[in-house]
Amino acid sequence: MTEPLLLHDLNQGELIALMSSWDEPRFRADQLWRWMYRSYAADFEAMANLPLGLRTRLASEATVAPLFPKAEQVSVTGDTRKVLFGLRDGTTIESVLMQYHSRQTACISTQAGCGMGCTFCATGQGGLVRNLSAGEIVGQVLYFAREVRLSAIERAKAESRQADIPVHPVTHVVLMGMGEPLANYEATWKAIETLTHAEGYSLGARRITVSTVGLVPGIQRLVEDSLPVNLAVSLHAPSDELRSQLVPINQRYPLSDLMAAVQRYCDVTRRRVTFEYALIAGLNDAPREAQDLARLLKGVLCHVNLIPLNPTPGSHLRPSPRSKVLALRDLLASAG
Ligand code: SF4
Repeated sequence: MTEPLLLHDLNQGELIALMSSWDEPRFRADQLWRWMYRSYAADFEAMANLPLGLRTRLASEATVAPLFPKAEQVSVTGDTRKVLFGLRDGTTIESVLMQYHSRQTACISTQAGCGMGCTFCATGQGGLVRNLSAGEIVGQVLYFAREVRLSAIERAKAESRQADIPVHPVTHVVLMGMGEPLANYEATWKAIETLTHAEGYSLGARRITVSTVGLVPGIQRLVEDSLPVNLAVSLHAPSDELRSQLVPINQRYPLSDLMAAVQRYCDVTRRRVTFEYALIAGLNDAPREAQDLARLLKGVLCHVNLIPLNPTPGSHLRPSPRSKVLALRDLLASAG
């Protein structure tokens, strides 16, 4: 038996073609599109304005449920939720929703596992399981959008007032979960096009950040592609010697190539790049590294995001102490 078609894997043109091949009028595709990306419907039963015959056929040949939650962890403050999702083939991935003030940011995965092998990262140590499809990437955002909207409705009900339903329950998306987005470029880009589609979820491209460990050809493609998404680069070290130890892909795309690609991104898009720097005790947090980093990034339109390492079980690497983090920050700031 063939697996039901995941409708989120289709772009709007492909959905129109599918409905046409089923002898359905064009407006049925539009209705379906709106159910998926304006109402975040997770089943066909809810799609009340579709005829019963079409809903029955959709239910037997297609699906709008790419993933289901298996476990959830909520931070002590309650503003961050990490969800373990099961996919249809039993593969698992993780995604995070961060809710700070008016910002609801979904940090989503683009691959199950990751083949980049960064030495400080638990996902990297497990290796790549498989690429996610565009629909599985989009599905993570829609899951959180549905949840945020539902909790807004429930909160309003409890307070006996009209629900203030946000147009974009998820306001920002960072492709920074499991996997390397640029190693799964086609599906990642298709997902971005779907999320930004004006007749669908219509998220502004500037609210989407693509994070890479430094796949230079992918950055070059990102520059050529039309949507103005943000770029974040996981840098973690200011020299090739140290970076190659932490991020093995640096041996293929050394810092000189990476920085040239980043510079081109800045020149063409006029957008600021974010450099992620995981601070690892005794490894990349000395004043010398801060000076080298300041030199490397001199003149580049950028932010530097200093993140104490998230320690992983079985690894001897530890996060830098707060005093070192602050000292490094001050050194970078004083170097401009
Ligand atoms: Fe981990 Fe990201 Fe490196 Fe993959 S690219 S191993 S997810 S840090």
